[in-house]
Parts: sequence; structure tokens; C-alpha cells
Amino acid sequence: MQNIPRLSSIIEQLKLRQDNIISVELAVGELIPFSDELIHALWSESSLARSTLVIRRMPAEHQCMLCFEKYHPLNKETSCPHCGGVGAKVIAGEEFRLLSVNGESK
Ligand SMILES: [Zn+2]
Repeated sequence: MQNIPRLSSIIEQLKLRQDNIISVELAVGELIPFSDELIHALWSESSLARSTLVIRRMPAEHQCMLCFEKYHPLNKETSCPHCGGVGAKVIAGEEFRLLSVNGESK
């Protein structure tokens, strides 16, 4: 199975907690190429398998470098819907981070 380094490091970080983890919420950008199924599968193989994993997909956002308008990229195209310019900066959609953790003391 594929490995997701950023998921592994979140799991490592959570293992250091002293409480029992009930549920974990992750923010995963739309541009992250890994499917929710893969993330859930890797989670269920980790030592946190007994906790509930919730994946929140964060929408992608690009910013045009010509007119500086922000837009949501459709079908992975990167031309600006406002001016037609190409060459946009990705300002959201590539995040992979811990959003919240619910735990109870042992
Ligand atoms: Zn533009």
C-alpha cells in the first residue's frame, strides 16, 4: 500500500498523547492526490485504528498572478476565469493537517 508521509507524521505526533483518542479530524486539501479511502485504510492499520477518523476536504483556491483575482480551479485547468491569464499561485488545497482531536483521560 502507498505511504503518505504527512499522515505518518500526524500519527506519530498523536501517539505521544497521554489520553485515549476518541476521534480525529484532518483537513485534507482538494489537490492532495490521495483518496479518502486510502487515508482511511492507512489509518485502520495504525495504532489509532480504534479512534474515529473524519476527513474534511478543503477546497482548492488559485490566485492569478496577472490580475490577482482568486478563483477555484475547475478540472485542474489553471487559466484565470477573469482575465484568461496563465500562471497562478496555489493558495489553498494542498494542506494536510490536524484539525482537531477528541480525547478522554485514561
Ligand atoms: Zn487573472
